[in-house]
Amino acid sequence: NLRRSNMMIKRFVLPALVAALAGSAFAQECSVTLDGTDAMHVDIKGITAGNSCTEFTDNLPHSGNLAKNVMGHNWVLSKGDDVRAVASDGISAGLDKSYLKPGDERVIAFTDIIGGGEKTSVPFPVAQLKDGEDYTFFCSFPGHVAIMQ
Ligand code: ZN
Repeated sequence: NLRRSNMMIKRFVLPALVAALAGSAFAQECSVTLDGTDAMHVDIKGITAGNSCTEFTDNLPHSGNLAKNVMGHNWVLSKGDDVRAVASDGISAGLDKSYLKPGDERVIAFTDIIGGGEKTSVPFPVAQLKDGEDYTFFCSFPGHVAIMQ
């Protein structure tokens, strides 16, 4: 009785598939924490924003001791091709403007510059990101972009 045994299989397989799909949706991350240190350390090389996230949040703690005018860090997101220009234009903006040209439209999201012992975070809508585009996160403190990205 082949037909009946086929139905048996479907009945057991389908609920298992649905459970697996629901599980993967819950596993998607809508935030990331990157640690800034006195040695400009970046411990994550890539971030994936899940398709189910409407908002993504970057958390940036600075676990070092140095002041923000000496070893400040921030988190800036732009297209990969814009990183050099955004960082270079930001230098003359100064620490008060978090080393970013005010109103720079190439910047998708950013935090203020923080020093050792401080922390900050920035939420931004995932809808601002396009599939297939190359984005880079970096620190716009002068001289840090080469290492911190
Ligand atoms: Zn930095």
